[in-house]
Amino acid sequence: MTDILVAGGGPAGLTAALYAARAGKSVVVLEGNAPGGQINFSPLVENYPGLPSIPGSQFSQDLLRQAEELGVELEYEAVTSFRTHGNGFQVTTDCALRECRALVLATGVQHRTLGLPGEEALVGQGVSYCAVCDGPFYAGKPAAVVGGGDTALQDALFLSGICSQVTLIHRREEFRGARRLVEQVLARDNIVCEMDSTVEELLTREGCLSGVTVRGRITGQVKQLEVEGLFIAVGQQPQNGPFSALIAVDEDGYLLAGEDCKTSLPGVFAAGDCRSKGVRQLTTAVGDGAVAGLAACRWVDEHPN
Ligand code: NAP
Repeated sequence: MTDILVAGGGPAGLTAALYAARAGKSVVVLEGNAPGGQINFSPLVENYPGLPSIPGSQFSQDLLRQAEELGVELEYEAVTSFRTHGNGFQVTTDCALRECRALVLATGVQHRTLGLPGEEALVGQGVSYCAVCDGPFYAGKPAAVVGGGDTALQDALFLSGICSQVTLIHRREEFRGARRLVEQVLARDNIVCEMDSTVEELLTREGCLSGVTVRGRITGQVKQLEVEGLFIAVGQQPQNGPFSALIAVDEDGYLLAGEDCKTSLPGVFAAGDCRSKGVRQLTTAVGDGAVAGLAACRWVDEHPN
């Protein structure tokens, strides 16, 4: 029986675990993928107070080391379901059955797709959702990025240093991402912005992406772009499916929990991007982690076996 199990090893989950371990609780973080979560894919974090500029992957490595040094255990297991069990919870993962007194859900989000025909089959053959991971495969080649948020802007900037040309395709007239990033994008010679435009079709040659057709939303004009890499950065969606039978979620599937991170099920806390909230940033994720970790400790203390 572990005091606190944490589902998800991103910034929110690791922070919750770190706080709980420092408070003397036994804590295991369960993570099905590489620890660090989405921030691993951020080339540069420039808005974390006190750390003027740090690669996202460096941030997550440092956080993991810090948590482990404080006694947090990390297991490479994905939580598939859980149920109440005695005075705590029984948690099923893809390879084990575990028990805990309190549970922190910090499962983050996963990338949204465009839903275009052929999109799924072309992943790894020209379509990607991670510029930092896959950008180098398109060195010296033309690429496109879809989206208008911080991720799309950052991806375009990152790829412009690798690819011959980057076309940034956004469905509206204005970007929603940070002004500072927009200014950097506009200043790059090899980034072309296709505003008010959507990708209509993925074109292929010998099983690989060879281009896209893009339609102007207002003009209705359709044009073909020759690109070998298409980086889709159109936001994220939660991965709370396994929990939604037991815990209240909002209309988009995010776990309903207030600033106290308490879910509708006592003893279960939600932290980070998987929680229903207005601002999803690294800073708000670690803020949630601290609140949820301490709340879980309090729950364990107030509900002895
Ligand atoms: P986001 O802010 O939700 O932006 C998604 C973008 O994709 C929007 O521009 C949206 O268009 C567009 N979009 C959505 N569905 C689409 C579709 N079906 N077809 C075409 N375009 C579509 O997502 P994000 O950029 O991944 O950022 C997520 C959160 O992480 C944000 O809070 C962001 O600030 C944060 N973040 C921060 C940093 C950082 O360094 N500080 C870096 C990355 C992300 P509309 O604008 O028309 O809705």
